[in-house]
Amino acid sequence: MNHSLFAPDALLPTGWARNVLLRWDEQGKLSAVKPDMQAPQGVGLAPGPVLPGLPNLHSHAFQRAFAGLTEYRGEAQDSFWSWRTLMYRFAQRITPDQLEAIATWLYIEMLEAGYTAVCEFHYVHHDRDGTPYTDDATLALCLLRAAQTTGIQLTLLPVLYQTSGFGVTPPTDGQRRFIRRTDNMLNLLARLKPLCDAQGARLGLAPHSLRAVPPDALRAALAGLDALDPTAPVHIHIAEQTGEVDACLAWSGQRPVQWLLDHAEVDARWCLVHATHMDESEYRRAAQSGAVAGICPSTEANLGDGLFDMPRWLSHGGAWGLGSDSHATVNAAEELLLLEYGQRLQLRQRNVLATRQQPQVATAMTLQAVAGGAQAAGRTASGETAGLAVGQPADFVALDAHHLALAGLSAPEMLSAHVFASHRTSALDGVWVGGQQRVSAGRHALREPAALSFIAARRAIISES
Ligand SMILES: [Zn+2]
Repeated sequence: MNHSLFAPDALLPTGWARNVLLRWDEQGKLSAVKPDMQAPQGVGLAPGPVLPGLPNLHSHAFQRAFAGLTEYRGEAQDSFWSWRTLMYRFAQRITPDQLEAIATWLYIEMLEAGYTAVCEFHYVHHDRDGTPYTDDATLALCLLRAAQTTGIQLTLLPVLYQTSGFGVTPPTDGQRRFIRRTDNMLNLLARLKPLCDAQGARLGLAPHSLRAVPPDALRAALAGLDALDPTAPVHIHIAEQTGEVDACLAWSGQRPVQWLLDHAEVDARWCLVHATHMDESEYRRAAQSGAVAGICPSTEANLGDGLFDMPRWLSHGGAWGLGSDSHATVNAAEELLLLEYGQRLQLRQRNVLATRQQPQVATAMTLQAVAGGAQAAGRTASGETAGLAVGQPADFVALDAHHLALAGLSAPEMLSAHVFASHRTSALDGVWVGGQQRVSAGRHALREPAALSFIAARRAIISES
């Protein structure tokens, strides 16, 4: 394997640099990032500007096969909750082989779309009637294999799910495949930890939401996780819907984020997924806790969640990253576009997420999403710089400088055009994870067989209804 690449332009944590030599070691970590170099003999030339790979911080893999199937009106007023009923029906049918086929295809799509890591918020645990599989880790192992096969970096987040609402409301029949006692979850984590370590995956925990995990269970699960790995990431769905905020207020007198900040030690290990509905003090306290806001623009738009107030979050120094969540869209550039456009529509301004240091909005957003995503994935320790920096994984993406949308532009303009001037075909050429090239000429080597298996799995699940 050639452990180097020469990039005419590369997006470093400090901004764009010219003539950058990238080298990496046997472990797939960057050992040199040197700007202003002459191209050395025998080193490959990147086909266009090189960007840091983007971590996808929120994924429910099985939902990829469900994307597009709920875009019709079923009730007088469809909502997140009517969507969830349909999603549960879909989740009830999936088999281990189908999950692996769907996740394998999804991770290939992600790699081809510029994501080099994924945080899998994994909540379908049991067999279709709700009884545990003989090997209780069966479905988690499907996800580990899908990541191994495709080469994407995985952060596996088994989900703790116990109740259907605040105040220890018993789970519904539709949730039977999700439910685990706390000790049972801790046993699963102990079983998965060496397997994740062996394949370079990170293992964390996802208490599903405050409505699905009672306070005692939350405390006990976090203590158990700390005993296993005190640096493990913790992700939670929170304040996605106003209905959840109202129910939390009725239960506790507090809003969800407020309750969480008062009852758990939320810090930089945490990812608050969505956090759409916060008041000013929640924005300030959550941002200052060091937690990452997990924004999922296409899913939040698809489900009619509402808009996260990015300028307010950033004014408090908040970290953030991107997730594709329900996978209505699997395209990192499109998520950036939607995020910025939502803010523009709300504020009637342009280039909302540009910063003083980075007036190019696509550049500014990419660097912030890479930093927040790596933190949420548990891949950067506190104070570590994510992206194209020595010691970081050699995870990067090369744009195709000859693509119609990009040809003849400067590197920052190419990234802008990639995000804001789509020509319906991908302008990504190569994708490397841990120094290994997984995508060449825009294509993953396993694309064709994985696509066929995905289509067969989706057809089988749909035909059961
Ligand atoms: Zn989610």
